[in-house]
Amino acid sequence: MPCAFCENDNPLCDSHIIPLGIWRLKDTGSGFLEVSTDSHLKPKRINKGWYQKLLCADCEGFFGREFDEYGRNFFAGAGVWKPITLGPGATYFDLAGADASKLKLFVLSVLWRASVAPDEPFSEFKLLPEQERKLASMLLCRQPGETFDFATAIFKYADDGRNLHKIAVAPRLFRDSGCVRYAEIHLNEFACRINVSNQKDKARFDPFWLTASEPVRIMQTSAEKKIAFGVRALADQYKRFSAFRASHAKP
Ligand SMILES: [Zn+2]
Repeated sequence: MPCAFCENDNPLCDSHIIPLGIWRLKDTGSGFLEVSTDSHLKPKRINKGWYQKLLCADCEGFFGREFDEYGRNFFAGAGVWKPITLGPGATYFDLAGADASKLKLFVLSVLWRASVAPDEPFSEFKLLPEQERKLASMLLCRQPGETFDFATAIFKYADDGRNLHKIAVAPRLFRDSGCVRYAEIHLNEFACRINVSNQKDKARFDPFWLTASEPVRIMQTSAEKKIAFGVRALADQYKRFSAFRASHAKP
């Protein structure tokens, strides 16, 4: 098989779909439990993450340098982030020093790898061929696109003793109640949500889509309900702030 990225017939590496360096941030030596969304399948223990014959050595090096290094360093710093409280049980992180473009490119690189990976647990996780091609060209040019090109937001699950980071959940595709199609990728205690439909999202996630030249904002949550609550509260806060700024702008 040719390399999935450059399509040359070079020997293929064991390419990690989610970089091993990120898995290992949370590795305490006992491996990970892979759980499936198919309740008939038993959880199984995996120790080296998910890898498949995917990329040639040159492309593997390109992904490592251009995307995985930044992603790993970003998530490795999570221990010292200071949460900002929005309301009961709802907090977020405002990471002004982070590079939203590099972070988005990293998440999109995982999205592309998961979509082109042929074997389990990715065989059902498939974007449209034109979406795979568009992603590959964005990655090749290191262009994260506009906010709503594969709009990407990241959520952090609060550590509430459930050891979420020890559970490996394969990426999934789903539709929300408004029929917008999303991909969800779990990285340790984080969930990345990417809009993979042609429909734009409702404004509710607006402050959290990764946007070049904006601070990276990450919602912390222990339940989906809290995400919705927190995002609404923050959106209102930003609306009020924008109105205030506009009314005080110098002529
Ligand atoms: Zn290649």
